[in-house]
Amino acid sequence: MRHSGRDRRKGEEQTMNQLERTLAIIKPDSFAGGHTGEILAMIEAAGFRILGMRMTRLSKAQAQGFYDVHRGKPFFAGLVEFMTEGPVVVLALERENAIKAWRDLMGATNPAGAAEGTIRKKFGTAIDRNAVHGSDAPETAAYELGFFFSGADLA
Ligand code: GDP
Repeated sequence: MRHSGRDRRKGEEQTMNQLERTLAIIKPDSFAGGHTGEILAMIEAAGFRILGMRMTRLSKAQAQGFYDVHRGKPFFAGLVEFMTEGPVVVLALERENAIKAWRDLMGATNPAGAAEGTIRKKFGTAIDRNAVHGSDAPETAAYELGFFFSGADLA
């Protein structure tokens, strides 16, 4: 069936306005640096609703499992060591287009190339000490949210 322009626009609007969830982590460098409060304020100012929030310290096995897609890469061991060096704050965030919106607020993976006003520009110090994590796609977000939160936590 063909859709009229109006129907199509309505469909696009519904897609655009869809609430989405993503997983964020305040990494050990920004936690130890005392930037947790400021990062949380930036998250709230950007219109995210915090559905879940927990401070934890990752075990080596947890960090390896979380970053399983990077297993075998030259930076994997360093990444696991960094993510286990101190406490982190894990967050389940909700907003329209949350995955992209949170990655936009985080900034580029390498803080040297991150845009002005982003968290990585402000608090990241190197590609392997870049302040925050965010899911990069809906499937990743579902996996990563489930890694840290139960469905009941986020209901
Ligand atoms: P992100 O989604 O922007 O965090 O980036 P990725 O998922 O691709 O990588 C996960 C983490 O591994 C990044 O946040 C970096 O800290 C680290 N990483 C990625 N690529 C490199 C690299 O080329 N060298 C090093 N040392 N670390 C990297």
